[in-house]
Amino acid sequence: MATSDPVDLRSDTVTRPSAGMRRAMHDAEVGDDVFGDDPTVNRLQALLAEMLGFEAGLFMPSGTQSNLAALMAHCRRGDEVLVGQAAHTYRYEGGGAAVLGSIQPQPLENEPDGSIALERIAAAIKPDDPHFACTRLLALENTIGGKVLPLPYQHAATTLAHERGLATHLDGARLFNAAIALGVAPREVAAGFDSVSVCLSKGLGAPVGSVLLGSRDLVARAVRPRKMLGGGLRQAGVLAAAGIYALEHNLARLADDHGNARRLADGLRSIGALAVDGPHTNMVFVTVPPERLAALEAFLRDRGILILARSASVRLVTHLDVDAAGIERAVAALREFFARH
Ligand SMILES: *Cc1c(COP(=O)(O)O)cnc(C)c1O
Repeated sequence: MATSDPVDLRSDTVTRPSAGMRRAMHDAEVGDDVFGDDPTVNRLQALLAEMLGFEAGLFMPSGTQSNLAALMAHCRRGDEVLVGQAAHTYRYEGGGAAVLGSIQPQPLENEPDGSIALERIAAAIKPDDPHFACTRLLALENTIGGKVLPLPYQHAATTLAHERGLATHLDGARLFNAAIALGVAPREVAAGFDSVSVCLSKGLGAPVGSVLLGSRDLVARAVRPRKMLGGGLRQAGVLAAAGIYALEHNLARLADDHGNARRLADGLRSIGALAVDGPHTNMVFVTVPPERLAALEAFLRDRGILILARSASVRLVTHLDVDAAGIERAVAALREFFARH
């Protein structure tokens, strides 16, 4: 990384495909994936199904589409999904479950650790009574706001859901960060869920792509909503090749991002007078007085540090295009800002 490159802490979605990844995309064997003919897409789907302990996988252009297709595969019109207030699937996907899926979300408060209390889940499951929507699905997210849900909690929540006749979905956009942080195999984080969606375009560094995993039957049911939502791609092997490359080269190194988040949090704490939350895997949150947000964002931009200062809790995200030297530059610039302002 050249010292003139911006240090982009806005999100782990900003990574650019490396030279090696671009070569893999260039060389990918392709076919028409709507016909199931793309060998590279098929290889990626099989690779992830094997890694995460499912029968089948389905390549999707985005995590938003993957979550929505999963919800539509689990739920019929008028069914209900129990989901966290803070969950991406509820809060940051344009309300797609309700708008496009005719699925009623029942948002439930997230605890500070990102979980949903088991009593809250149990109490929200509606009895079989025509007054109520049919509670059909529990959706969790791991990591959530960078925080890792403990595996014993996931086990308890999915067991409760299954005992009450619900299906379970995990938005595992950053599942691999959770696995690395816990020091377990990725399939352990996926265990107990009927479906899991993972993103290749976050810390793994692919330009595009998510994969939905589940039973053969569930995945077959997700193909129609994917098509309906515009996600039936043709020679998608050029994209899947980037995903395969990412899984083969960029998985173990997620630990470096977690190390850089720790470096960032330690540096920010040394500034003093700053409320720092984290690190949580590859994220650090800093509380900034609302009236200083715009000035901070502009000050840092002038010094080649990019942040998204949209709320008083500013999220800073590390990823494979930020190194330790970039973290030092970011901390120095923040120190300068708070010394002057
Ligand atoms: C990024 C993300 C998604 C999906 O994102 P896309 O930008 O649609 O690929 C879903 N859930 C979580 C938790 C995410 O961070």
